[in-house]
Amino acid sequence: MRNRTTDDPSPADLVLTGGRIHTMDSAGGVAEAIAVRAGRIARVGTADEVAPLIGRRTRVVRLRGGSVLPGINDSHLHGVWLGTMWPHLLMDQLAGGDHHRQDGPPQARLETSADRRRAILRTAELLASLGITSYTEPGLGPGEDDGPSGCFGSAALGDYADLAREGLLTARVTALMLFGELDGASSLSGLTEGLRAFTPPADVPGRFRVAGVKIFADGIPPMRTAWTDEPYGDGTHGGLLVEGGDAGEREAALIAMIDAAHAAGHQIGVHATGSRTTRVVAEAFAAVLNRRPGNPGRHYVIHGDLLRAETLATMAAAGIGLNTQAEIAVTTEDMLTAALGPGVLPEAWPLRDALAAGVPLCLSSDAPVLTPDWRAGVAAAVTRRGLDGRVRGEAQRLTVAQALRAYTITPAWQDGAETWKGSLEPGKVADLCVLEADPLETEPAALPQVPVRLTMLNGRIVYEG
Ligand SMILES: [Zn+2]
Repeated sequence: MRNRTTDDPSPADLVLTGGRIHTMDSAGGVAEAIAVRAGRIARVGTADEVAPLIGRRTRVVRLRGGSVLPGINDSHLHGVWLGTMWPHLLMDQLAGGDHHRQDGPPQARLETSADRRRAILRTAELLASLGITSYTEPGLGPGEDDGPSGCFGSAALGDYADLAREGLLTARVTALMLFGELDGASSLSGLTEGLRAFTPPADVPGRFRVAGVKIFADGIPPMRTAWTDEPYGDGTHGGLLVEGGDAGEREAALIAMIDAAHAAGHQIGVHATGSRTTRVVAEAFAAVLNRRPGNPGRHYVIHGDLLRAETLATMAAAGIGLNTQAEIAVTTEDMLTAALGPGVLPEAWPLRDALAAGVPLCLSSDAPVLTPDWRAGVAAAVTRRGLDGRVRGEAQRLTVAQALRAYTITPAWQDGAETWKGSLEPGKVADLCVLEADPLETEPAALPQVPVRLTMLNGRIVYEG
């Protein structure tokens, strides 16, 4: 590849050499060595090109066939909740797998700042061991201040900001505010009053940022609570969670909520799963982006279980992202077809179609719904193989390279941060995930067994295996 250097010839703090450096740059370039200096990437190139930056005090790591990725970005992960649940996961209970994880007692409610900080730091340690250096905490706010778990209230935003300021947070965190209930009811007045009355903590530059608003539009297809064009077996179509007297009022309220959050300058992530909901949300995003281009947007559909081709086209044209979980696709497809029939399968988790249409695609764990292990997420996106060994949605399989972009540079876009993180290019922050093997040369099903050797955040090693 092209020799890309910065002018500064002074010695690097760290050089990783003799492996495969997957840069995730726009050309998808692969290099042999990378140098880190003062928290930034100093040089990326061949071993010979990087060698001049090795000084007497430079630590040199021989990769020996290993690889380097940009630090992984899990763009939808409930950090406080994960810290209280781990190693228990919700999906294990649903799928009946991993029985040893099911027998934990229900967690006590998080009451104090100390409780929440402990949960956040437990998550941070776990994520560092997985090579994850950024995540989005999708929904903390006044709507859940009295919630039963204490995991989603507004106080956690302050705890995150404190931990970031104290230098204790080993991942960069983007948060979305929640003015309704998690997976529950919300209203236009709740959102507009919340936006007026609630002041989130100030950004901690590069480390913690409250970027916008999370809205729950509908439920999920297996529960017949997703709002669909196609009828469920009992003839119903589900509906929106947003308050309103009838379906028309609820739709109008949802659109008005999107308009209000956009007008206030926020990024918006909307939980939307049914084919009707995803279309209404995509059209509302497109319309408000067109009407009020001052807000840079980067709005996105979360989950998007059912997405029609027209909806994907609307999203691509307006620059609306899709944030989804391939493991939910392979784990719940049978429940989806039980609820809506096999006729919906062509529009179920159409990840390859989304990329082909030009939709910015982010893959995420939704942990603790699923494991925060992104290697399992990549394997699911590439194989579409469930725990029972069956393949679901074969035509929507991604390549490993596509899946890795959905965990690195595209979520950096979602964070509004693609100019300074998400790829391995000189000048960008040194957030790295170092693996013992090359994921592009690994049998996809075996990806979860590739060990993480080292995790670096901003030039600092936060995990070493
Ligand atoms: Zn979630």
